[in-house]
Amino acid sequence: MSDAPLFEIEDLHVSADGNEILKGVSLSIGVGEIHALMGPNGSGKSTLASSLLGSPEYQITSGRIRFKGDDITDWGPDDRGKSGLFLAFQYPQAIPGVSVINFLRQALSARKGFDLSVLELRLAIMEWMERLDMDPAFADRYLNEGFSGGEKKRNEILQMAILEPEMAILDETDSGLDIDALRVVAEGVREVQKDRPELGLLVVTHYQRLLDELQPTHVHLLIDGRIEASGGMELATKLETEGYEAWRLPVAP
Ligand code: ADP
Ligand code: MG
Repeated sequence: MSDAPLFEIEDLHVSADGNEILKGVSLSIGVGEIHALMGPNGSGKSTLASSLLGSPEYQITSGRIRFKGDDITDWGPDDRGKSGLFLAFQYPQAIPGVSVINFLRQALSARKGFDLSVLELRLAIMEWMERLDMDPAFADRYLNEGFSGGEKKRNEILQMAILEPEMAILDETDSGLDIDALRVVAEGVREVQKDRPELGLLVVTHYQRLLDELQPTHVHLLIDGRIEASGGMELATKLETEGYEAWRLPVAP
């Protein structure tokens, strides 16, 4: 047993193409906590999410990432997934010929190291699709092919429900989510949390509405690769009314 927090980021510096994007980010996420990461466009939110999932696009130049006490900084995405970190948006594109259910079968096998029978998996998926208010026909559609924003989100939440991660990182910034898709995410997260209250979450978003629904336990503001403020929901509310301007560095004359 260890007293380490569930998930810990320690003074993380990350570069892409030789440019430093994250300039020393530290965060500590405990069991059952929901952390929201907010910040203006270009502040490095998606870079952080991608780095945490082990994307080869980004170079971690210093700092550590720890999950359940293990230093996972140098682990590949597959090992991160196996250990219980949720990797949903690793596959944003359509995968021709792979259905939602087949994809889940492979992902579950990689995560748990054993195979459910097709029937067992279908039953588990059907149960979750009902809880998530999804059309049963969805399971047999090809992954991400012609999916609406809301359907992509349903698929992500379904993956999260089936894979049973201990820590999930959701990046909600770049998909142009409509109200329906936001509700899918918020209700889906709540539904999954009913079964797994110990799930830790880092939700990257600039949607105040999503935070209203999710009621994060912690809110962080990322500006230019650094966390400039941390607090509770009151910080998200303050950002909504005051905008990010107050935190921006003054432009040199
Ligand atoms: P956010 O998600 O907060 O909008 P990003 O993490 O997408 O911000 O981007 C932060 C900064 O890093 C931006 O200036 C962006 O142009 C730059 N950046 C992101 N990814 C790359 C990359 N692969 N190569 C070079 N620069 C990148
Ligand atoms: Mg982004």
